[in-house]
Parts: sequence; structure tokens; C-alpha cells
Amino acid sequence: MRPDFDPYILSLAKTVATRGTCSRRQVGAVLVREGHPRETGYNGAPSGERHCAHEDYARPEDDPDLAFINGDWRCIRADHAEANVIRFAKLHWTPLDGSSVYVTCRPCVACTGVLIAARVGEIVTWAGQDTAVLEEALRGTETRLRLV
Ligand SMILES: [Zn+2]
Ligand SMILES: [Zn+2]
Repeated sequence: MRPDFDPYILSLAKTVATRGTCSRRQVGAVLVREGHPRETGYNGAPSGERHCAHEDYARPEDDPDLAFINGDWRCIRADHAEANVIRFAKLHWTPLDGSSVYVTCRPCVACTGVLIAARVGEIVTWAGQDTAVLEEALRGTETRLRLV
């Protein structure tokens, strides 16, 4: 069966996520403008730099790529998928105003700021996630959240 547009793009984002180089988290993002997927980004160390190697450390305390932030050990080496998709769009001169960024999970606050500053029109992700913080970050901005 031919999938609807939103699930089609989100499944593309899921495929993009499989290229992610952070073993703790695989996230994919696809930027759509005027009905066409234009850019992709995934979670991983900046190109040319060494990848995360979380599996090499038994304890998070010993892993130089982890930091204890907001009550959780988080990877500080990987650039997030959403930040990367915006970076590639800028590199390729892809216009961002009115674009949609499809992402496999809700963006963090830092990435939400990047998407707002880039004047992305909407963020599209799966329903069923806790989006309270994200919605708070978007309040009063031109960027909308659409759950599918
Ligand atoms: Zn990592
Ligand atoms: Zn993020």
C-alpha cells in the first residue's frame, strides 16, 4: 500500500537514523521543503572526528564522551540529527523558511532553539511522546509542532 506523505518521510528519517554513529542513541531528521525531502541528518560525531565509543567503558564515569546532565548520562560527542540537518541545509543553500523538519524523536531544547533560529516552519514527529518542554520552548515562536 502506498504510504501517506508524513509516515513516508518519517520512515525515511528512521532509515537516516541507522547511519548514526553514537551507540547510545540513533536519531534521524529529514528536511522537507515544498513537498520534497531536501536534506538529511543523523546523530553522530562531526565528520572527520572520531566516533563515540561508549561500549568501550563499563562505567559511564569513565567515558570521556558522557556527561551527567539533568539527572542522566548524556553523550556530549555526537552532534544531534536536527542540528546536522540544518547545518547541511546551510551548506547547500537550501532555504529554510517554511520548511518542515521530520525527526524520529522529539528534539531536545538545544536543537529546538536551532530549529527556531533557522526559521523552520514546523517540526514533525511521532505522537505519543512527552512534548511538554518542547511546546514550552516553541511558545511565541513562528515554529509549530505537528504530531502524526
Ligand atoms: Zn555518543
Ligand atoms: Zn538535540
